[in-house]
Amino acid sequence: GSPAKLMNINIQKAVDRLSGGVNIPTISQMNSAKIDYTQFLDFNRYLRREFPKVFNTLESYTINKHSLILKWSGAQPLKKPILLMAHMDVVPIDEQSLDQWTFPPFSGTADEEIIWGRGTMDDKGSLFAIMESVDQLIANGHQPAQTIYIAFGHDEEIGGNEGAKKSAEYFRKNGIDFDFILDEGGGITSGKSFGIEKAVAFVAVSEKGYMTLELVAKGTGGHSSMPGKETTIGILANAITKLQENPLPARLGGATKHMFKAIGAEMKLLPRIIMGNQWLFEGLIERIFSSSPAGSAVIRTTTAPTIISGGIKDNVIPAQAMAMVNFRIIPGDTPESIVDMVREIVDDPRVEIKHPEGQFGRKPAPISDPTSDQFKFLSRNIYDVFPSAVVVPGISPGGTDTKHFLDLSPNIYRFSGIGRTDDSDLKRVHGIDERIGIKAYEKGIQFYIHLIESLGQNQKL
Ligand SMILES: [Zn+2]
Repeated sequence: GSPAKLMNINIQKAVDRLSGGVNIPTISQMNSAKIDYTQFLDFNRYLRREFPKVFNTLESYTINKHSLILKWSGAQPLKKPILLMAHMDVVPIDEQSLDQWTFPPFSGTADEEIIWGRGTMDDKGSLFAIMESVDQLIANGHQPAQTIYIAFGHDEEIGGNEGAKKSAEYFRKNGIDFDFILDEGGGITSGKSFGIEKAVAFVAVSEKGYMTLELVAKGTGGHSSMPGKETTIGILANAITKLQENPLPARLGGATKHMFKAIGAEMKLLPRIIMGNQWLFEGLIERIFSSSPAGSAVIRTTTAPTIISGGIKDNVIPAQAMAMVNFRIIPGDTPESIVDMVREIVDDPRVEIKHPEGQFGRKPAPISDPTSDQFKFLSRNIYDVFPSAVVVPGISPGGTDTKHFLDLSPNIYRFSGIGRTDDSDLKRVHGIDERIGIKAYEKGIQFYIHLIESLGQNQKL
């Protein structure tokens, strides 16, 4: 169809409000003693000050001092509410890269085209886009058809146990569950790593699980003047090499099958035949996706050695060497099945393979059905606002706060309407010069407005 008429918004004001939010360094730290919680109190105050209409119209609940739930009552209370999510915390700045930032990371500098700063992409852009959309709709006298809940967590980057998890408990305790949930984790991206020319609107219908394994090679150690044929470090290095040379198998069923179908329809002639005959050409599809890290991450459990240690003195062979390997688990695999496969690949009894103390890994999230009415509703809204993109369901390689909400809706989607400026932007999340385009931000706000306005239209009650 033709693109929807999008609402005009005061983008300059919206840019200023986001800049002000980026100014507040709500930094999550692995070591919670280092977290400056006054910044989170400030951030909450800032939202209340900047969006008085929202706080006067919606009910607000502070969860565990720093997280926030908002409730906008809908006109059709019989229909289940929806939940819009985002998070207010950001990752720290790597001090060594500070001088590589074009603008100081928390300055929230905006030029003609771009808003720069930590959190613009992950995830204050979405948080403020939600606030702007509600603010604008209230100004227009709008009341949503369905009740809308909004949940902003304050510790997504360190697992969400103090924020999203507590918010989920609040909903559970009050018997509230959702028609659908929309959080970060997918978005508008270039189709290149999918092998198509059109932009892709990637909607994650599941997210990968997480597990780290510890590999320990033990031996006798000794003086470096008379080493044996093999050393603990050599044995461990060999095990890691085997793991890297043997990627875990691609899983081409479930959500991935739907992903291939959506992409296949957009591919040039030859690949299109391949996509249409998945049963015949799985090997080839697998090779196309395996050729890029981004493609590989959405079809298989990834293997990433992240820590290695052993030895303390240059003339002593250590009796023990240790490595940590991180796995992002795709639906179809489980923490248990990964351990079995790793044992088989390493195939060396001298290498002990174990879970780090108390960490047994997290299963992947269940797959939200990409043929449901709720998914169709979301993709219709995406097509209205981004008519040139292709909606592609798939699996999010990273984790989100929705991991705490898995029992609160069968329809959990991870998608942001704030598109990327170019392919370099993927590296900027958690990296240097994080940024969003002002045009893209405007569209992101319009996306939420359109979504909220569309609630209750052409939907079965
Ligand atoms: Zn995030």
